[in-house]
Amino acid sequence: MTQPVRVRFAPSPTGPLHIGGVRTALYNYLFARKHGGKFLLRIEDTDQKRYVPGAESYILRTLEWLGLSYDEGPNVGGDFGPYRQSERSALYRKYAEQLVQSGKAYYAFDTPDELDAMRAKLQQAKAASTSYTSAVRLQMKNSLSFSPADTDAWLQSGKPYVIRLKVDPGEEIVFRDLIRDEVRFVTDLLDDKVLIKADGLPTYHLANVVDDHLMQISHVIRGEEWLPSTAHHVLLYRAFGWEATMPVFAHLPLILKPNGKGKLSKRDGVKFDMPVFPLSWDGASPEESFKGFREYGFYPEAVINFLALLGWHPEDDREVFDLSDLVEAFSLRRVQKSGAIFDYEKAKWFNKQYLLRKTPEELARELEPLAAAKNYDVSGDYLKQVAVLMQPRVDFVKDILEDGYYFFEEVKTYDRKAVKKRWKPEKQALLDELADVLEGVDRFLARYIEPAVKAWMEQRELGPGAVFPLVRLALTGSLKGPGVFETMEVLTQYVTVRRLREAGSKLNPIPESVS
Ligand code: GLU
Repeated sequence: MTQPVRVRFAPSPTGPLHIGGVRTALYNYLFARKHGGKFLLRIEDTDQKRYVPGAESYILRTLEWLGLSYDEGPNVGGDFGPYRQSERSALYRKYAEQLVQSGKAYYAFDTPDELDAMRAKLQQAKAASTSYTSAVRLQMKNSLSFSPADTDAWLQSGKPYVIRLKVDPGEEIVFRDLIRDEVRFVTDLLDDKVLIKADGLPTYHLANVVDDHLMQISHVIRGEEWLPSTAHHVLLYRAFGWEATMPVFAHLPLILKPNGKGKLSKRDGVKFDMPVFPLSWDGASPEESFKGFREYGFYPEAVINFLALLGWHPEDDREVFDLSDLVEAFSLRRVQKSGAIFDYEKAKWFNKQYLLRKTPEELARELEPLAAAKNYDVSGDYLKQVAVLMQPRVDFVKDILEDGYYFFEEVKTYDRKAVKKRWKPEKQALLDELADVLEGVDRFLARYIEPAVKAWMEQRELGPGAVFPLVRLALTGSLKGPGVFETMEVLTQYVTVRRLREAGSKLNPIPESVS
């Protein structure tokens, strides 16, 4: 019988979730849903020094915003709880003591100064490793070098101590990774990892392995940065006698900077003004507050789609996938080994794909609060009309109001180059003539405006180049934008005519403020 699929996302609440963490959550989610398994959220909060208040709720909000629902976790419960490691701390000690009893772990009493001295000595001797390994452990203060009586006396005295895993040299560790195939480590240089710290709390390694075992995790899907730790994890499974039910590992590729050189960092996000985090974070200090994908105006579906393809590729060349399509298509076997480049332009492209699928009604609804925030007093119907025109031209909904601001207020800036090239004071007469023509259009709809304007152009023997750039400048300040006749219709006859008649007063002389 094959083990049921149970996977977990196990973030440490040490700050905002990096985009890599979100991708890990997503791949776990997809894998669980694809195989009809369970997706768990486990909060790994045993490192008190790195604990950041508010980080856990940020993580929960992020998953909620993205629609990555979990079956078991801190706020939803489940049969394997509690799902916050700080609420399980007594348990880890019991397991560590069990390893001490079976000779797989030991108590160590060295002070930080003694550990520093050890490292300095090993460094000086140019030793192969400067860590606490089998090569030095008998020269250190621990229950292997002390007599049983001295060990007991120390433990009774209340002085601090840790529990370390006893790593024997000369062993080979081989495990299967679904992305990297077979991975091998030799134990010779591996250190005797601390399992229980002097504060009595477990280290990540112990808590992670104990919980993955107790929570019956079938597959550990996590970032590549955890690959080296896996050697110790395998040793822990062996030490506990749990090797037969050890999870299958899958280490996801790193996410690289847009130039492909090195790991994507928070600093890259700030430097290139692109989000590296999914939501905004109001951390403890001002430096920790920044904008995330949500604040940049991304749709959660677009973030999901973008992240799914950051390291995974489907069998065909399809790119747009919603969450249920992804569940269907996803497989860990198609996750690449090499680093995946974070391409912000691609992220925007994905947002655009989702924006293009929206109906005018949906867009108008999304625009309403944004327009209200700008004090635009407009109807839903008007927003709908503007949305239809701007939809193919923007990546984000908010850009409809930014790029198309001239639908809501007077033209503020004029394209300087275009004005210089196209505008001369004598052109006002032409715009006035056109304004007269437009005043004569009974039903001010693009389909009636167009023939009227074209008839006038023909009669006056004016080509498009002589008319449209000027009209665009007068109406919008720019040569770009939606179709001229559609723009006129939405602006209304009154505003169109007024802007044409007032163009000269704004453009003679060419205003300094033009951009
Ligand atoms: N707590 C670890 C982290 O913050 C979990 C790593 C793992 O999935 O084993 O990423």
